Amino acid sequence: MHKPFQKTKVIFTVGPATQDEETLKALILAGADICRINMAHADHSWTREIIARVRKVCHETGRHIAFMMDVKGPEIRTGDVPETFALEKGEIFDFTYGLGIGGTDAAGNRRVDVNYPDLAQDLNVGDTVLVDSGLIRMKVLEIEDQRVRCEVLIPGPIGNRRHINLPGIRVNLPALTKKDQDDVKVGIEQGIAYFALSFVREPADLDTFHTFLAEHGSEAKVIAKIEDQQAISNLEEIIVASDGLMIARGDLGIECPFEDLPQIQSLAINTCIRHTKPVIVATHMLESMISSPLPTRAEVTDVTNAIREQADCIMLSGETTIGKYPVECIETMNRIALRTEQEPTDILRRDIPLDLPKSKMLRSAAYLASEMSAAIVVFTRRGIYAQKLSSLRPNVPIYAFTDQALLFRQLLLLRGIEPFYMDFDHDHETTIQKAFSALKASKWSKSGDPIITITKMYAGAELIDSTQIREIG
Ligand code: PEP
Repeated sequence: MHKPFQKTKVIFTVGPATQDEETLKALILAGADICRINMAHADHSWTREIIARVRKVCHETGRHIAFMMDVKGPEIRTGDVPETFALEKGEIFDFTYGLGIGGTDAAGNRRVDVNYPDLAQDLNVGDTVLVDSGLIRMKVLEIEDQRVRCEVLIPGPIGNRRHINLPGIRVNLPALTKKDQDDVKVGIEQGIAYFALSFVREPADLDTFHTFLAEHGSEAKVIAKIEDQQAISNLEEIIVASDGLMIARGDLGIECPFEDLPQIQSLAINTCIRHTKPVIVATHMLESMISSPLPTRAEVTDVTNAIREQADCIMLSGETTIGKYPVECIETMNRIALRTEQEPTDILRRDIPLDLPKSKMLRSAAYLASEMSAAIVVFTRRGIYAQKLSSLRPNVPIYAFTDQALLFRQLLLLRGIEPFYMDFDHDHETTIQKAFSALKASKWSKSGDPIITITKMYAGAELIDSTQIREIG
């Protein structure tokens, strides 16, 4: 038996708290749709092991989920220090390159190396340097050769390899580093459906990724993670060049004023929907559930807001990598999604520019289905019809049938789509009847249910696109 029809998809990030077979099974049965593997923390053998384990559980439970490999992209980190030390407010602190393990210089100033040779070139006096997800704030006082001297404004502890953010600074690092390329090759070998690229700054970053995938024979899709001000300036072009977007609110909230986040989220969601691209809202959605079995009221409202804004997916990170209540997190998201999706919405979104006659037919079919409270059945080999129908955000289920295994998994990410993997018959009517039987067998539909079917059919010798009013037999 499947979970109740839910338009919003749920992504969980796999980690120490969820890597065992039993927990994975519980998460998948609770209704997770996508498993995200964060390559900032995963090595190759663990990645292969997890993928095999998840696939085994899917096979046993009969419920399929897709993988998203999240690659680090251009990221600046501090190097190692002999041991974690506490910075003090007002302290003079140096970032260096190539000097080795951190320490104290002859003048008594403490320092740490960074993994980025051009730090001193990219920064100017007065710029801000944030360390460890923005917990530590410094101001640049002086730059000399490869040494950046800062004043500590907000102190904190400095441990090994801490993440550095440079708000508003254009960093001269490649979109896809050598480590990313090695990670992506493992993802390709494993037949991953989606890659997510961190710190996408401009459309060319996605072109680089798509070219790399094509050169290595992969048809995986690429999700652009928007995480800094440059990505926001290039938002529309990035969406056009990507296969979907992740609003990575963790880094965005460090790189941009946090009060701008809700506006950025709304703009990004609406722009994605207009361009018929899926969109994921990520980070801190149920953060308190890392240690508590219940969400805060504010978290419930945040998840509700993302669903009302009609995002395709809501995502869990720390909640399922290190949290104590990963299964409860999925259940919580489902409860909120099912409740929020009951609220009346427009029959269809009006802001999707569907100009071609075929696209207009999809809109009419979706409108007809909504008017008749009928589900939509669509047959798709490239996913374009399914993606457009999803973007119209109709208030009825869309059952998308495909004979392409990779596309089947990619469709799992789209809002309102329940995908089916099925061989197509050369006779279109036989294919339709097979689809109806599959819907009945899996209890999504029953005899007598009205269905709007979008399919090709022969009119004499001519193959035409058709919208049909059908009934499950
Ligand atoms: C984020 O910053 O919100 C995010 C999802 O990125 P990551 O978890 O990969 O740092």
